[in-house]
Amino acid sequence: MLSTMQDVQLNISRILEHGRKVHGRSTVTTWTGEAEPHRRTFAEIGDRAAQLANALRDELGVEPGSVLATLMWNNAEHVEAYFAIPSMGAVLHTLNLRLPPEQLVFIVNHAADRVVLVNGTLLPLLAPLLPQLPTVEHVVVSGAGDRSVLDGLDVRVHDYEALLAGRSDHYDWPELDERQAAAMCYTSGTTGDPKGVIYSHRSIYLHSMQVNMAESMGLTDRDTSLVVVPQFHVNAWGLPHATFMTGINLLMPDRFLQPAPLAEMIEREKPTHAAAVPTIWQGLLAEVTARPRDLTSMKQVTIGGAACPPSLMEAYEKLGVRLCHAWGMTETSPLGTMAHPPAGLSAEEEWPYRITQGRFPAGVEARLIGPGGDRLPWDGESAGELEVRGTWIAGAYYGGASGEPLRPADKFSADGWLKTGDVGVISADGYLTLTDRAKDVIKSGGEWISSVELENALMAHPEVAEAAVVAVPDDKWGERPLATVVLKDGATVDYTGLRTFLGQSIAKWQLPERWTFIEAVPKTSVGKFDKKVIRRQYADGVLDVTRLA
Ligand code: ADP
Repeated sequence: MLSTMQDVQLNISRILEHGRKVHGRSTVTTWTGEAEPHRRTFAEIGDRAAQLANALRDELGVEPGSVLATLMWNNAEHVEAYFAIPSMGAVLHTLNLRLPPEQLVFIVNHAADRVVLVNGTLLPLLAPLLPQLPTVEHVVVSGAGDRSVLDGLDVRVHDYEALLAGRSDHYDWPELDERQAAAMCYTSGTTGDPKGVIYSHRSIYLHSMQVNMAESMGLTDRDTSLVVVPQFHVNAWGLPHATFMTGINLLMPDRFLQPAPLAEMIEREKPTHAAAVPTIWQGLLAEVTARPRDLTSMKQVTIGGAACPPSLMEAYEKLGVRLCHAWGMTETSPLGTMAHPPAGLSAEEEWPYRITQGRFPAGVEARLIGPGGDRLPWDGESAGELEVRGTWIAGAYYGGASGEPLRPADKFSADGWLKTGDVGVISADGYLTLTDRAKDVIKSGGEWISSVELENALMAHPEVAEAAVVAVPDDKWGERPLATVVLKDGATVDYTGLRTFLGQSIAKWQLPERWTFIEAVPKTSVGKFDKKVIRRQYADGVLDVTRLA
């Protein structure tokens, strides 16, 4: 029997029009580095998104299915592009501006981008690549920057504001099949070439509803969210789309991502929520420790993308800010889990739940697969690889314009689940604790050592700023941990002191013998510890390693 319900396509244009009308007074505030930030209402963003769509169709010949890239910071214009491009039936492709040039070239060519919308300040990055990007016909420049770097290149150059000026603020958004491509994002390619994930209108719509649920971020038009996580990193964790559903005000840092301007933004604009990877929060903590600032407007902070050390959570708790741990991936839109503790617990009882990666929402099914391919119980002890499925989880990667979708066997199970590459346990009440990435776990004499557990224990030492632990080859044990540690200014602790400290919480056989102090932990393009760089530095003998007896 078929239902009798209406079948309305879940199109992004519906989110846009809702935000424009119902939450027209909510604002997107963009930091400018000048006396005043720039403010634009959702109503204005809606008008301008329609103007942009008209310009793209009438001036640039953009058609349904055209792929348009953005090389932009988090700002109001980027939000306009987020809505205009998919709503008109084209595909938004956000480019990670921190990728090495050769990867950017690969990605733009693979996606066959026809247009690049770029912030003027990023032209020095884009211009030298353009001769290698034959599919790019148009470059649309927003904001200040030296445009002469584009002179003589074989592209048509447009000014963003000039394109919009005088255009109609009405666009007849087409009724699209909700399964159609809306946006694409390439994984940061920690191994091999980057792989493209294509989100549908439906997946983004449903994911946005999840972001807005109380068990996820649960914000309303009384909130302002400081979106530090870049719009090129998994759609800024879904926030720009989600906000137009519920009227959450956005505070966008543009290119001012250093700890000092972030602290100033928070103190002046008083966001109630923020989202960023742990590295950002580590940096901000050092800043406000040196120069105290009031961060207490932030009632909730979503932290994810890499494991959040419990010590970091504790440090922010003392500043009156509650960090909420979340797990996700480019392939999961990204909302996978969030660590809200169950009801009815004291603050002390909540703590063990808060330091997990969190609970799965109803829309994400999870299972753990053991080393032999067997399915493991949710008992908080059995460790295996996490596999997930759901309406906003990728089922394949983009195979290029003429190719079939790619389903590599190491990323997708035969029955279609996503293999996350993350290893962990799930408790009987559904809380996920990740112990490592499959490729980072240290395999010592047939036993597994969690690099994350060692890092968290090290970062709990008061004189340690950051620590990354990697597996290195060992004649006797196969692999052993190497501890690379960044000390805080003025620290006096030595390797033996750190090992003794670790011994208080870590089993003796897991304690590292190999130690090195480093200036900074190498980071990936989205600010995570780049362990493959550390492993290579060790292999190349460039680290000054001390071996304790
Ligand atoms: P990349 O794989 O290039 O880092 P993603 O941003 O998609 O790109 O990263 C997803 C991965 O980040 C996850 O598979 C997981 O290993 C890690 N990750 C994300 N959130 C967390 C978290 N809260 N705790 C531990 N690891 C996390």
